[in-house]
Amino acid sequence: MSKSFLIDTTRCTACRGCQVACKQWHDLPAEKTINRGTYENPADLSFNTYKLVRMREEVINRKLNWLFFPEQCRHCIEATCLETAGDPEAIYRDDKTGAIIFANTKRLNADEITEIIESCPYNIPRKGPDGTLAKCDMCIDRVVNGLVPACVATCPTGAMNFGDRNEILALAGKQLAVAKKKYPKAMLIDADDVSVIYLVAYEPKLYCDDAMASNAVFDITRQMALKQMIRPLTNIASRLL
Ligand code: SF4
Ligand code: SF4
Ligand code: SF4
Repeated sequence: MSKSFLIDTTRCTACRGCQVACKQWHDLPAEKTINRGTYENPADLSFNTYKLVRMREEVINRKLNWLFFPEQCRHCIEATCLETAGDPEAIYRDDKTGAIIFANTKRLNADEITEIIESCPYNIPRKGPDGTLAKCDMCIDRVVNGLVPACVATCPTGAMNFGDRNEILALAGKQLAVAKKKYPKAMLIDADDVSVIYLVAYEPKLYCDDAMASNAVFDITRQMALKQMIRPLTNIASRLL
């Protein structure tokens, strides 16, 4: 049974425990940051930051609202990064969990790396100084040993949930019904297409520019994936040498 997350943003207090736990578990260094007049920190995901609690201030119905969005890779059901790479030794899906893993992106050339970055409908992969890519790995080492991901284990409010996909879909339906009583426009983002399902109280783009995938992006990236599939055999053969 594949795994999924439910991230219920209506329960998120932006404590950033998940962001810190992700760094701690993966032994990732801190970022050098500056005061940008916001509590959001650092400014973006990076090669060393797989999880970022995005924070926006929005006036909705003439009232100031804090909108929090703990962002990470969505582990897409049809992952365009994986299709675009077309090389299972570089990017693969773990069959047991559904995690999309960047295993060895050193195998890919600079153009392929750029295509993969551009293919992601949620703007997730980040390039490091050595030209390779990094992102959330679903804490696969924990999950295969029966633990929940570090970000889920640390969340004190119940915003982060993880489990078998059918259980998470059922939980998402239940929590959406609860949220809708207070927030009539509450919705689940792209629930059929991703393993990381966000529950939001308002329009997704208020939370983050790439909170929701546009169909146009998926169409374009599927065309790119097709192009990759018919990549000349010589290119593939050169990797095997
Ligand atoms: S969110 Fe982007 S990087 Fe993550 S699996 Fe989907 S396409 Fe790949
Ligand atoms: S699942 Fe693991 S790698 Fe992904 S955001 Fe959570 S802690 Fe980080
Ligand atoms: S740990 Fe939970 S409450 Fe804290 S920022 Fe992350 S999702 Fe929100």
